[in-house]
Amino acid sequence: MLASLALRSKTLPLRPPYGGAEELFHQECPSCVDAPCVAVCEEAVIQKDEQGMPVLVFKNSGCTFCQACAHACPKGVLSLENEAKISAQVRIETATCLAWNGVVCATCKDVCAVGAITFFGLYRPVVAGDVCTACGFCYGVCPVDAVRIQRREV
Ligand code: SF4
Ligand code: SF4
Ligand code: SF4
Repeated sequence: MLASLALRSKTLPLRPPYGGAEELFHQECPSCVDAPCVAVCEEAVIQKDEQGMPVLVFKNSGCTFCQACAHACPKGVLSLENEAKISAQVRIETATCLAWNGVVCATCKDVCAVGAITFFGLYRPVVAGDVCTACGFCYGVCPVDAVRIQRREV
């Protein structure tokens, strides 16, 4: 359920930033019952799934890279020694995007703090992969669920 909330397509769940290897999540997270990373996230974008694994859920907000989850992790799974990075690719699905179908909409662009969404003309928004931080703020605001976020394998 949570995984399907995190990603509306059949892809792997997103892990929080500052994460180590995927194996480390599987090794340490299920036994971390208090899950301080969940508790400290000011944007409430970390949830535990059925397996006790932390997943990012961008339905209502995004990640500010505030570092709180990395500071709170007692097991070194999230650590400031790792990159401040969410390993994911963000794209706009042209078949469902309002703008790509001739309706004026720039909601995703308006919330993007790093200017990763640009429009070609009035109606063709695209995400610049080299600028996007996969923060997820554009995901929940899209009125037609046209923003897709897919985990990158590392
Ligand atoms: S960096 Fe901050 S906002 Fe992002 S997931 Fe961690 S606690 Fe939440
Ligand atoms: S918010 Fe959604 S519908 Fe609007 S331009 Fe962005 S992707 Fe398209
Ligand atoms: S996920 Fe990427 S495109 Fe979307 S708001 Fe964040 S930086 Fe911008």
